[in-house]
Amino acid sequence: MADKINCLDLSGQHQQIKNEIFEAFEKVYEKTAFSGGLFVQEFEQKFSNYIGSDYSIGVGNGTIALHLAMLALGIGAGDEVIIPANTFIATAWGVSHAGATPVFVDCEADTWEIDASKIEAAITSKTKAVIGVHLYGQPFDIDAVKRICDKHNLFLVEDAAQAHGARYKGKTVGVFGEMACFSFYPGKNLGACGEAGGITTNNEKYVKHIHSLRNHGSTERYYHDEIGYNYRMGGLEGASLSVKLNYLESWNNRRREISKKYYAGITNAKVKLQSIPSYADGVHHLFVVTVEYKEAFAKHLSDNDINAAYHYPVPCHLQKAYSSLGYKIGDFPNSEYLATHCVSLPMYSELTDKEVEFIIDIINKFQ
Ligand SMILES: *Cc1c(COP(=O)(O)O)cnc(C)c1O
Repeated sequence: MADKINCLDLSGQHQQIKNEIFEAFEKVYEKTAFSGGLFVQEFEQKFSNYIGSDYSIGVGNGTIALHLAMLALGIGAGDEVIIPANTFIATAWGVSHAGATPVFVDCEADTWEIDASKIEAAITSKTKAVIGVHLYGQPFDIDAVKRICDKHNLFLVEDAAQAHGARYKGKTVGVFGEMACFSFYPGKNLGACGEAGGITTNNEKYVKHIHSLRNHGSTERYYHDEIGYNYRMGGLEGASLSVKLNYLESWNNRRREISKKYYAGITNAKVKLQSIPSYADGVHHLFVVTVEYKEAFAKHLSDNDINAAYHYPVPCHLQKAYSSLGYKIGDFPNSEYLATHCVSLPMYSELTDKEVEFIIDIINKFQ
C-alpha cells in the first residue's frame, strides 16, 4: 500500500461533507451567532432527539460537561466520586475541578469496563456519585452499577464521551444516569470542527442550573447569582455538529462493520480482543487489543505501514497528577495490565475493506 494507515484519519470524512459544513458556517457568519445562540440551540434539540433524552445542553468541551455535571449534583469539596481507573484522565478532572476527590476502582479483566462488583468496597460516607465510562464506545453494565447506586443512594453519571449512539440492551446510552456527559472533540465518533461537549438529562432542574453556570452564573445579563464560568459552546461548533449528526448512524454502522471484520479475521492467539457482553452494542470509538509484547507488536505493524497507538498507557491512579492520593502499582491489576499491554488498531469509518483485510493479514502474521 502506498500510504501509511493511521490509527485515526479525519480527512476523508471532512472532505466528504466540506461543502455542507461550509454552507452551515456561512449561516453562522451571516447571523454572527458565534457564541451560544441559535445554532447551538438547534444542535441541542437535534442531539436530545437522537439520544432520546428530554434535554441536551451544549458546552465548551467534554471535560467541562463532567465538571458541570458534578456542580449541578452539588458535589464539591469533601465529597468522593467513584470512577474506573482505566479511563481517559478527563473523567477524573471533572471530579477534581469540582473540588471533590476521585476514588478509583478496577475494570473487568475481559470487557475492560468498570467492574460493578468492586464498587461497594470503595464506598465511604463521603461518596456521592459513580461515573461509569462507556470505554472505547462499548457500554458498561449499567444495570449492575445502577443497582449499587440505588442501594447506597448515589448518583449515577454516564461518561459517554466515546459512545455517541452506543446501545445498552437496545437503548441508546445517555439516558440511564442522572446525566450523561459527551465530548465532541474532533476525534470522537461525533466531533465538532473545533472543541465542544454536551450533557443529556431528563431532569429539568439540572438544565436550568447548568444554563446559568455555563454563562457566568447568570440568567439575566449582568446579574450574577453565583460564581459561574464561561463554558458555552461556540456557534460554528454547534452548526458543524448539526451537519455531522446526520451522518453519525451511518458512520457508526461502518465502524460496527469494521469491528465485525476484526473479530472474525484476527485469529492470532497472541492478540486478545475486548469481550462484548450480550447487552452491549458499541460504536467502536477505539479498537483496542492487548498483546503480551506490545512494543514488538506495534513495531511489526509500523514496519508494515500501519500506525497503532496506546489508549491509555498509564492508568489514572498512577498518574503523577494524582500521586497525592497515595495509590500504588498493584492496586488495580486489570487496569494496569490493560495500560501496559494495550494497542489501538486503526478505526474510523472511512477505512476501506481492502485496508481492513490488509491490517488483519499483517496482525495474523505477527509471531
Ligand atoms: C475525550 C474524553 C473526555 C473529555 O472530553 P474533551 O472534549 O476532550 O474535554 C472525557 N472522558 C472520556 C472518556 C473521553 O474519552
